[in-house]
Parts: sequence; structure tokens; C-alpha cells
Amino acid sequence: MRGLMQDRQLLISSFLTFAARNHGERQIVTRTVEGQIHRYTYADCERRSRQVANVLKSFGLGLGDTVGTLAWNTYRHLELWYGVSGSGMVCHTINPRLFPEQIAYIVNHAGDKALFVDLTFVPLIEKLADKLPSIRHFVIMTDRAHMPTTTIPNALCYEDLVEAASADFEWPEFDENTASSLCYTSGTTGNPKGVLYSHRSTALHSMVANNADALGMRSADVVLPVVPMFHANAWSIPYGAPMAGAKIVLPGAAMDGASIYELLETEGVTMTAAVPTVWLMLLQHLEKDENRRLSTLKRVVIGGSAAPRSMIETFETKYGVTVCHAWGMTEMSPLGTLGALKAGMEKLPLDKRLDIQCKQGRAVFCVEMKITDDDGNELPRDGKAFGHLKVRGPWIAGAYLKGDGGNILDGDGYFDTGDVATIDPEGFMQITDRAKDVIKSGGEWISSIDLENAAVGHPAIAEAAVIGVFHPKWDERPLLIVVRKPGKDVAKGELLAFLVGKIAKWWMPDDVVFVDELPHTATGKLLKTRLREQFKDYKLP
Ligand code: ADP
Repeated sequence: MRGLMQDRQLLISSFLTFAARNHGERQIVTRTVEGQIHRYTYADCERRSRQVANVLKSFGLGLGDTVGTLAWNTYRHLELWYGVSGSGMVCHTINPRLFPEQIAYIVNHAGDKALFVDLTFVPLIEKLADKLPSIRHFVIMTDRAHMPTTTIPNALCYEDLVEAASADFEWPEFDENTASSLCYTSGTTGNPKGVLYSHRSTALHSMVANNADALGMRSADVVLPVVPMFHANAWSIPYGAPMAGAKIVLPGAAMDGASIYELLETEGVTMTAAVPTVWLMLLQHLEKDENRRLSTLKRVVIGGSAAPRSMIETFETKYGVTVCHAWGMTEMSPLGTLGALKAGMEKLPLDKRLDIQCKQGRAVFCVEMKITDDDGNELPRDGKAFGHLKVRGPWIAGAYLKGDGGNILDGDGYFDTGDVATIDPEGFMQITDRAKDVIKSGGEWISSIDLENAAVGHPAIAEAAVIGVFHPKWDERPLLIVVRKPGKDVAKGELLAFLVGKIAKWWMPDDVVFVDELPHTATGKLLKTRLREQFKDYKLP
């Protein structure tokens, strides 16, 4: 027997129309790419996204067409992504930090018909334009006064188009399984692969991702997604914030410690989210002046890479800010686990509590998770056994765009994340490594992430990477590569002594190399393939 409830489709346009109607006066604040602060409301954003929809229509675009964006987190990008998805087109947010050849590859692979670019990326597109044959319309996301002279063919000015467009537009209704947006993985191995989200997957993900034990945004909150919209949908904050009616603060192109600190304080931000590198810069900025405080910030969500223990501890003990550690990936929309404490855990002594908060967290509702050995046998959830982390759920990719990568699910419909993890009896998952980064020493596995986190706990260390290098007896042994904080010094012996007691004895790195900078991927993760290449002939002492 079928239920008798209304069969309304879950559509992205409804997130914004809901906010415009119920939280119409709530603000969206942007540090624009041009530099000044811009303010408007959800009602303004919804109206302008209808104007954007009419602009796209005037381009001759319709249901299923793909529109590319190369843009920072700004109000223009926000109204554009709602205008595109809301009118049944696919919003392809492109990561500008990819190599130019990769950008050309994914624009062509996706078949983008229009490309909207921020001023920052005009020089990049000038070089690439003739390699992008599918693009019929290039739009520069600025106003007439800031329009650059450019060689981009027929470059259009965003504000001219939007201002001239009528706001008379009705959000269309269609099947909730229609594609809404597209994000490519960063492709550290091979070409990037397209993850194609639907309205339904996005709606379900955004609703669950905003549970109290997850992002937990409320109407009274002021949220600052530093994580870019091109990095796995900014972890769904630009979807969840309008659902909640929270004020949004968008940082534009300025993500350095000083700029983020200024916005946190002047706009009264209560919740923010980004990768550890951003928080490293913020904490370094705060450390420069003992009087700097985080006067309104309550929660910071950290994900994308492991949040070091020292970072979680500093936020809490020095600045009174709770860290929620999160894990996910582009293929998971992206959220899979978040680290909110369970009943009674708040009362644990700091050290024990940090042990839990350093883990990547518990699965949110709808995400099924298991760890297996190499043969696919499920391993115990005892917090000790570690194996391949596999996931299943309604917002997890079932295939890549155009079938790239072939069948990506096992016989039970699980997707292999490529991560290696433990799961404890309370359900808290801990990433020990990427499967390809794990160090295999004498047949046993060493977690590079644990070593890195222990090393950055040293007050003189800004960033650390650990890779396995060849060893005649043990096959591989860990090499620690570190960047010192500006003006701070530490010698090899002192650093290794600092690790004693923090890691298993046999995990102790065989050597330490000091560098000025570590290589990163387009999403801010350590680029270990480059390091392995660089140190492939390294002779351990
Ligand atoms: P990319 O396109 O660079 O792979 P993703 O954000 O999709 O970008 O990367 C997902 C991967 O990032 C995960 O599979 C995991 O290895 C890593 N990751 C994400 N969050 C965390 C975290 N909190 N701790 C450790 N690793 C993480």
C-alpha cells in the first residue's frame, strides 16, 4: 500500500525561496574580489538568482546544460549557483587551483556551455579560452567599473547582464533525481573524475549535515564558510545556511589569517569551517598579538585533512572555541563523519577527550560505514584493527561522470574511499592513512598521519609530512619532512626526542629533513606523490 502524503520533489530552488520568505532580512555579507564589503539579504539573493536564471535562458541554455564557475565564495557566486541549479541546469564549480591543463580537460569533459569567472581568473582564461570549444559565453563576474580589457572572446560583464534581466521567473519543477551540480576530484592520480550530484542527494545531505551533532547551524548563527564552494560544495554550508536562516559571511579571495580574523570579529561569526591550513594561518596571526581574542566564535569545523591535536587543543584552551573534526570527500557530497561528543564524554579529562576529538568522528544518519581487509572481509569495530574504509548512502557517488573509472561499487553497493581507518566500539572512525600513503615497514603498517600530527605538536613546527622511503632491511621506513614556524628553531635530535612517548617506538622516523615549504594539492592536502618523487633516492642514515 502506498502512503498518502504529497509527492513534492526535493529541489535546490526551495532552499533559497524558503530563506527569502522566512528569513528574508537575514544578511549575506561578502568581502568582494574587488575589495569592498558588500551586504544584501536572502530576499535580494533569491531575486537576483531569478535574474541570473533569465540571463541563462537568454543564452539559449536549458534543462541539463552545464555551466562552469571559476569563482571564490561571494554573493555573486551564491546567486549564480542557485540560478543554475534552480533552473534545472548543472552548476559545475571548478577548482581554480588545478593545473591549467586539468581545468581545460574538465571543462571539455563536462561540456560546459557557459563559463563565469572572477576577476582573479581572467588571466588564466585568457590563456585557455581557445582550448575550450564548448564554451559559448564567457562572463566576468564584476561590474562595469571594474571590467578589464581582455582577450577573452566576447567577454560579458556579469552586472550588466543581471541588472538588465527581468526578475520575472518561476522556478521550474522537475524530478528530484535530476542532476544539479558537478565537482571533479583533484586527480592526484590520473585525470580528475566528475562527481554528479542530484537535487535529491543534495537536499538529503544538506538536511542531515545540519543536524545538531553535525554542522548544527541555527537561525541565530553567523556562519563563515572559508572552505570554497568549488571544494565539495563548501561542505554544504551554502545549502544548509538558507535552510536554517543563518547569516552568511563570504570571504572572497582573501583567506589569509588577518583577513579571516577581521571578518570573524567584525561580523560576529559564531561558526566557521575550513581545512587545517587555513586554521594554521589564523592561529599564527592570533599568536602575533596576545590581545587577540575570538570574541564571538563558538565552533570551528575542520576537515579535508586531519586536524592536529595541538590545533584542537589551542582553539579550545586558549580561545574557548570548540573544534568539530569532520571527514568526507567529493564523492560523498562531502560529509561522512563528524566528531560531536556523545553523552558523558564532555566530562572526560582534557587528554582523554582530545583522544576522541582527534578521531574523524561518527557516521551521520544515512551513511553506512565499514572497514575491510584486502580480501573484503569486514574487520571488527574495536578501535584497533585498521582496514579499507568503505561507505554506502543516498549522497555517495554510484558512478563517475561518463562512466570514468568503471564500476566503483563492491557487490554490496559500498564505495571504497581509498582511506585506511579504524572504527571504535562507540562508532568513532579514525583515518590512519590514505591507502597509497601508508608506510609498510617489515610487513607492518605505520600511520603517516599519526606521525605528522605528533610532529606539529612541537611549538617550533608549522607543518609536517611523513613518507616511506626505501630501507634495505624493512622495505620502507618513515622520513619526517618539516617546515619550521617563522623565527623558530629546532634541531633533529630535539624533534625526535619530542616524539618519544607520543608514538609507538618502532614508528620513530629514521630521519628528519627541514624544508621551507611543502607541496599541496588543489584542495590543500599534502601532495605526497611529489614528495615521494623528490625523496625517492633518499639515503637513510
Ligand atoms: P580531493 O579531491 O583532494 O580528494 P576531497 O575533499 O574529496 O578532495 O578529499 C577526500 C579525502 O581527504 C579523504 O578521502 C581523506 O583521505 C581526506 N580527508 C578528508 N577529511 C579528512 C580528515 N578530517 N582527516 C584526514 N583526512 C581527511
